[in-house]
Amino acid sequence: MPSDEKQLRRYEFKKALEELSKQKGRGTELISLYIPPERQIYDVVAYLRDEFSTSSNIKSKSTRKNVLSAIESIMSKLKYYKQPPETGLVFFVGHVQKRGDQTEMYSQIIEPPEPVQTFLYKCDSQFYTEPLMAQLKAKDVYGLIVIDRKECTVGFLNGTNIVSIVNEQSLVPSKHHQGGQSSRRYERLIEIAANDYFKKMGEIINNAFMPIIRDMKGVFIGGPGSTKNFFFENDYMFKDITRKVVDLYDVGYTDESGLRELVEKAAESMKDMEIAREKDLVNRFMREVRKGDEGLAVYGEKEVAQALDRKSVDILILSEGIRKTKYYYVCPNCQNTAEFDARPDDNTCPKCGSAMEMDHEDDYVKTLFAMAEQSGATVEMIGEDSDEGKLLKKAFGGIVGILRYVPQKTTNSF
Ligand code: ZN
Repeated sequence: MPSDEKQLRRYEFKKALEELSKQKGRGTELISLYIPPERQIYDVVAYLRDEFSTSSNIKSKSTRKNVLSAIESIMSKLKYYKQPPETGLVFFVGHVQKRGDQTEMYSQIIEPPEPVQTFLYKCDSQFYTEPLMAQLKAKDVYGLIVIDRKECTVGFLNGTNIVSIVNEQSLVPSKHHQGGQSSRRYERLIEIAANDYFKKMGEIINNAFMPIIRDMKGVFIGGPGSTKNFFFENDYMFKDITRKVVDLYDVGYTDESGLRELVEKAAESMKDMEIAREKDLVNRFMREVRKGDEGLAVYGEKEVAQALDRKSVDILILSEGIRKTKYYYVCPNCQNTAEFDARPDDNTCPKCGSAMEMDHEDDYVKTLFAMAEQSGATVEMIGEDSDEGKLLKKAFGGIVGILRYVPQKTTNSF
């Protein structure tokens, strides 16, 4: 998946979670249902039938009615699935409070970006979104290698999910042979065997990592001894991969548990890298701002939109904190169009004086992503954890860009 599309999906996912966590039930009547990918649908339906009969004993009449109808709604939607999608399914269904005493049926089905780990049914006055919130925190792909002379395991860290793809045992005999006269020859043989094994692992890693090397944030190598350093330093992997190696770590095992240990040890590096990348980008933008008219910075919502229209934006930088909806109106009389940041109190058409009507509303961040795609700009989303991220949101409204070229001056200065 192109990284822009990934960032957009992440943004939409985050927004959906925010909306979910705002919903409240009047009683204990909002259902959250997490279905892991390997769970059978008929199993889930059987579980829900059980819950349905248990819930028939709920004392409050309105809560009972709402819970039962929520369970029924989930069961009817499950009919459309033969099996859960790749990452599982999460249902959020229930009657949520609206103005005053009103409630309204609310239902959201999410295919999460990463696999649901455990089956969970929860009925509460709020939706249970924590497991999905945790998925939001990590978002990058890293390559993982744990190696010694006996074994090697290769995998990926995809967000929070560790996937092991290859585990190979080597045929390299131990160095500590009770040697006789032939011990020198024996040593040469085991070095040949070791070299063959490293070569083979190098090929396996090249094949696994190269197709997605551009999307990979980094590679971590671990192992119990110095073999990992030897393997790293001796060109068994392509240069494109060795360049992405962040660091080497001492870990005790070279099987799948070694991959987990490696991720734990590398956690600090990953956090630093992400924040460093965001800081670099904002600082680069700030340097351009300071250059004034000679700089490549563009900011201000309108200015950025115009620059995107002219296809002159190289990188569009957006704060993850922007929440903006635009309302598009059209005049039924003269077809004049207008856009607003909020539903306007005065919708009189400035051209003919008729009342304009709303045509549609759109999430502005999604609009910006679409505009960036049209104009060939890359999009970078910046979190609000660092000072630089906060500055971007606070001082610049969270929407800025770096241009491809310095814009021509429209006025002459004498
Ligand atoms: Zn009009």
